[in-house]
Amino acid sequence: MAVSFPINKTRNIGFIAHIDAGKTTVTERVLFVTGRIHKVGEVDEGTTTMDWMPQERERGITITAAATTTYWRDYRVNIIDTPGHVDFTAEVERSLRVLDGGIVVLDAVAGVQPQSETVWRQADTYQVPRICFVNKMDRVGASYERTIESMRRRLKANPVAIQVPVGEEATFCGVIDVLSGQATIYPNGSHGPAEVLAPEQVPVPPEYQDVFQRYRQAMIEKIVDTDEKLLIRYLEGEELGEEELRQALRRATIQRSLVPVLCGSATSGKGIHPLLDAIIDYLPSPADVPPVEGIDPKTQQTVLCFPDDSAPLAALAFKVATDPFVGRLVYLRVYSGKIKTGASVINVTKDHRERMGRLLQMHANHREELEDISAGNICAAVGLKNTFTGDTITTELRPIILEPPRFPQPVVSVAIEPKTRADQDKLTDALRKLSDEDPTFVVRFNPETAQTIMSGMGELHLEVLVDRMRREFGVAAHVGSPRVSYREAITCPVRSEGRFIRQTGGHGQYGHIWLELEPLERGSGIVFEVGLKGGSLPREYVPAVEAGVRQALDSGPLAGYPVVDLKVILVDGTYHPVDSSELAFRSAGMIAIRDGVRRGKPVLLEPIAQLEVVTSGEFLGDVLGDLGTRRALIRNIEGEGDTQVVVAMIPLGETFAYTTRLRSITRGRASFTTEFRNYQPVPESILKTIINLG
Ligand code: GDP
Repeated sequence: MAVSFPINKTRNIGFIAHIDAGKTTVTERVLFVTGRIHKVGEVDEGTTTMDWMPQERERGITITAAATTTYWRDYRVNIIDTPGHVDFTAEVERSLRVLDGGIVVLDAVAGVQPQSETVWRQADTYQVPRICFVNKMDRVGASYERTIESMRRRLKANPVAIQVPVGEEATFCGVIDVLSGQATIYPNGSHGPAEVLAPEQVPVPPEYQDVFQRYRQAMIEKIVDTDEKLLIRYLEGEELGEEELRQALRRATIQRSLVPVLCGSATSGKGIHPLLDAIIDYLPSPADVPPVEGIDPKTQQTVLCFPDDSAPLAALAFKVATDPFVGRLVYLRVYSGKIKTGASVINVTKDHRERMGRLLQMHANHREELEDISAGNICAAVGLKNTFTGDTITTELRPIILEPPRFPQPVVSVAIEPKTRADQDKLTDALRKLSDEDPTFVVRFNPETAQTIMSGMGELHLEVLVDRMRREFGVAAHVGSPRVSYREAITCPVRSEGRFIRQTGGHGQYGHIWLELEPLERGSGIVFEVGLKGGSLPREYVPAVEAGVRQALDSGPLAGYPVVDLKVILVDGTYHPVDSSELAFRSAGMIAIRDGVRRGKPVLLEPIAQLEVVTSGEFLGDVLGDLGTRRALIRNIEGEGDTQVVVAMIPLGETFAYTTRLRSITRGRASFTTEFRNYQPVPESILKTIINLG
């Protein structure tokens, strides 16, 4: 491949969908059609190319955001794999952060489901331009129009249908492009599951003329509505050309005022060729999106990084993976400049120098060595030893820090212990490697119980990690029951004093401070400020006070959980010219916090999740009855056909082992997902039980 590839011919895209919409199948067909793999993997048979981890195959879910490069027309398409399961928040965040455009895959039977709303909202947060692929058009009950209507209603999106489906359900055989008036028809019946047959281009079939005209009219009105000049010409009765409409639709998609909607059936490969064309035609190149912002660590000023090869280097490490063959891989998105194999670079976030080893481009079934990689592109680097997800790589020319993806704090923990002594070292190694890859996976040793505690975003998240430990690292381990991570917080402001004074003979200790504590909003974390009045306390003792404060906040007065959402202001203090020391002020800080938090009317907080249960209608009553015993707050019940969807807010701890329970009360006719939302105070009535447990 050419060393430098035109940036306007590059697309960094990701398929965004919740589980089961068909994202993996669509991706497989895209890789097949673009000629990178020769046998299409079947999700149901567990042989897909993107989902390379064994447990992903078994569970049929995609966990790792692997970036795969392929080519269509003369464009380079980098596909960033995004997970559909909300337990893997870190993966969703990191992939949305680095892609320029998304393809939202919806199920033509189910339409927009509550979980599609979650992924849609996340894409909104990162301002990702989108097109939509209505998949499974072959299924009984599939409806393109109803799905588009549900996008309008539930996502508050502005969809524009740019295709008309030909045939329906079992007879679905292709699509008409509303802009060009060309139909792409796939040969029916003869294709096997492992191939995608080449389609034929034909004019609009006569029986589709009416519906085609109706769609065309609606589409043109939507497009001209986003472009004043076109609107005037349209209103004056002028015939608008295909190319100028396409360009206007492209602009509107990139500005996120319109979402073009296409359809198809991924299992049989129908609609994949036009989908690839739409990715090229409507989704942005790296040069079409606003330049990414960075911060100069010295001046704190904002620096814009334009996708220009000759600009100084700015790259973001968005994923660390352990590859069974090449070892530690750091996936990079280059925003400006160019990186050469073997170059010396600076990790600005960690403030150290690194050597860029080999650069690899990952394809569906092979790796390609690159000499260099230029702005707007994505690659995997081998040899960066101390670079982690979220770090910025630059050179001396211009040190800047790019905004890292946002990762939430883990909310569920389990204790893990090796089965034999021989497993101990392997376990330590596995835990280090896995937490290295995943910023929402945290490992900590509890010296009081001598247990290793691993924390993550949900039960499934931890299960998958334990599974990987067993398979990839050969570690046999006992795993305890999951526990939610509680927090503590004060509810009223207090002023507290910390005195650590020992002056009985010899060299004494003298540390004395006053703190003001204020509760903050949920999710604010800990804020430490210095508001010293007068020169009562030398500045040199402030870091020691802060260290003591933070240390004491690790363990709250109610049950020893971390204290959060608190502002601590150091307002006053006294010192002794001989006896004062950092140690004394650190202790004073701890004393002041212990006293202050205790008097600040502390409450215990528990993680609350949004639970979504999809059940067959006949079991709705049983599902609701059971939720009633789990402190769930029902938010919404909605049904279409025989399927009922229940959305509830529920304490995360009440969802443990829910899989088994739900299966037994619905005879396997229901599924559910949970997604962590926020922390809420534990009701008085059950506080005692939890504190005793803790
Ligand atoms: P993902 O969870 O979004 O990655 O979805 P998968 O690609 O794993 O697909 C989920 C299920 O839907 C699998 O059983 C697929 O075989 C099936 N599926 C995917 N696309 C289609 C389609 O176009 N038509 C039908 N009938 N089934 C499909």
